[in-house]
Amino acid sequence: MSTIFKKIIDKEIPADIVYEDEHCLAFKDIDPKAPVHILIIPKKEISSMSEVTEGDKELLGHLLLTASQIAKDFGISDSGYRIAINTNNEGGQEVYHLHIHLLGGRQMTWPPG
Ligand code: AMP
Repeated sequence: MSTIFKKIIDKEIPADIVYEDEHCLAFKDIDPKAPVHILIIPKKEISSMSEVTEGDKELLGHLLLTASQIAKDFGISDSGYRIAINTNNEGGQEVYHLHIHLLGGRQMTWPPG
């Protein structure tokens, strides 16, 4: 089933896009939980981490490398940041299109809620 993120990929609804290539898209979270809060998503429709397969290995690596580069671009690489992938119900996932949260610009706490 298509999600709101698929509509962002297809440019059917607007988003504050900060990076795009053939395989992924990154945009600012509409309800930011930190001064920097960016979502990195694959253009391929994968619902969650529980659905990834061996064939997604390169894509998953690309998403993480993209997150690392965006952290540099936004000046939070040295100070630090958190990457989170909420997965399914107990993981707190709300949108069922795989996405990496990149959060930074403030001190993170542990454990997460
Ligand atoms: P999750 O709970 O991991 O599924 O996170 C979904 C995230 O998507 C939340 O942080 C929302 O604020 C964010 N979100 C939902 N709709 C939009 C949208 N149209 N544009 C940007 N971010 C969105």
